[in-house]
Amino acid sequence: DDLEAACRKRQIRTLRGLGARTEWNIIRGIQALRERGDQVPLGVALPVARDIQAHLEVLPQVKEVELAGQLRRREEMVDKLELVVAGTEPKEVLAVLPGLAEVEEILARSEDSIRLRLKSGPVLEVLAAEPKCYWWTLWKATGSAEHVAQVLALAAERGLLIGGPDAVPPDVLLAGVASEDEFYQRLGLSFIPPEIREGKEEVDAARQGRLPQLVDLADIRGDLHCHSRWSDGVMSLEELAQAAAAKGYEFVAVCDHSQSLTVANGLSVERLRAQHREIQELNEKLGSIQLLSGIEVDILADGSLDLPDSVLAERDVVIASIHSGFRQDMEQLTMRIIKAVENPHVDIIGHPTGRLLGRRDPYAVDMERVIEAAARTGTVLEINASPDRLDLNDVNARAAKEAGVKIVINTDAHSQPELDNMHLGLSVARRAWLTKDDLVNAWSWQEIKEYFARKS
Ligand SMILES: [Zn+2]
Ligand SMILES: [Zn+2]
Repeated sequence: DDLEAACRKRQIRTLRGLGARTEWNIIRGIQALRERGDQVPLGVALPVARDIQAHLEVLPQVKEVELAGQLRRREEMVDKLELVVAGTEPKEVLAVLPGLAEVEEILARSEDSIRLRLKSGPVLEVLAAEPKCYWWTLWKATGSAEHVAQVLALAAERGLLIGGPDAVPPDVLLAGVASEDEFYQRLGLSFIPPEIREGKEEVDAARQGRLPQLVDLADIRGDLHCHSRWSDGVMSLEELAQAAAAKGYEFVAVCDHSQSLTVANGLSVERLRAQHREIQELNEKLGSIQLLSGIEVDILADGSLDLPDSVLAERDVVIASIHSGFRQDMEQLTMRIIKAVENPHVDIIGHPTGRLLGRRDPYAVDMERVIEAAARTGTVLEINASPDRLDLNDVNARAAKEAGVKIVINTDAHSQPELDNMHLGLSVARRAWLTKDDLVNAWSWQEIKEYFARKS
């Protein structure tokens, strides 16, 4: 069926990137997809939702449109795309939706909401509200059920909620609250960013004034993991540097593959040295951007690295990653990664669990032990911002932060448009409560260099 066909297509893509896969793996992939139902990765759902948002935004009756629910919380997998619209004629606004190209069928509709099935699988739900109730509708549709319940309980306790949790403002709330911001304020809470409205400890933290200042896209000063034509990327070194400069970055690291990854045209020691010379020449003529010479070195089956230490020592940035031998048992895989962590030249562990969202589970690695080793050695762990990966996930990134491990968000871009995926990794970082201090690519290159140097 369609699902299977889609899966096969993706498997073919995987084949090209990762080498031979067994039939058993393909079947397992299809089963995993079936179990997950109609969820799609955040990176797939966001552009679809943004497109629908753009369709609604231009309608004369519409004042505001915002993503809500799982999307606004930036969950890594999304089964329902929710949007909230503020407008004068809800019926007319909602009537536009069934005609959109992405829509397969209407599941339900009422005066002020419509639920549709999208061709790509997930459900789309659009809630319409009068402008004065917009913030409330958006707020209720954003947090997890637990978050909403916790905040409403607090509101009831403070006498802010008169008609019970299901009533709508303005009748039920004390007059004067006109935004989410004000609502939290009236409850004695600092503003809780949508990404962490999960009903865990954020309400307590907001009450005690100890919510962290979450990292922002504007804080990002560079990308430490990009590929060029020297291995399996499509940009020349100069194109990569110019594209990063156009994003306002201060630095960008080219980390092409190492020699054993022959399917990706991995670099031998000789080609690596030639690339290094080209990088040096380019840096002499480049303006504000600094092109860093990096390497994504393969962690081999026994935990040794694909290039000698003397060669790694010549590079500005060394990322060690696993691209083969995923089916080792947990002890082997964990020890393999820890061995790489302990190498004094390894600055970063790339996509540490190897998972592909909705398609391949993480390999059997004990992240607790990896995080412990990273903390002990001062090795940075990556949030790979590729829409297929988002690896580390939010839970592991949070655990790493708690253990004192520094994180980097890298796009792993193989082409220019992929440099724009930084925001997806940022979503993970924000869900993990990370601040500028936790993220090395929110620092200057000088500061990063000093941090890396503490290890080697
Ligand atoms: Zn990689
Ligand atoms: Zn890579």
